[in-house]
Amino acid sequence: MGALRAVVLVKIVTFFLIGMLALAMFGRLRWPGGARRPGKRSSGPPKPRKCKACGSYIIGEGPCSCGKG
Ligand SMILES: [Zn+2]
Repeated sequence: MGALRAVVLVKIVTFFLIGMLALAMFGRLRWPGGARRPGKRSSGPPKPRKCKACGSYIIGEGPCSCGKG
């Protein structure tokens, strides 16, 4: 009774591979070479800064709210 399970497994794997191939093809059609991707890389999320005085993360620009950093 293991043959049927093997067939089902092969079918699932085949469908999975086809899906991945379709996704890859769609990705190539949208972004040739994969170079142009949506989302700006240069102005990504700002790096988390830590206050030198108290060690807490500083959100946004400017000095820390503790007044020492
Ligand atoms: Zn601070």
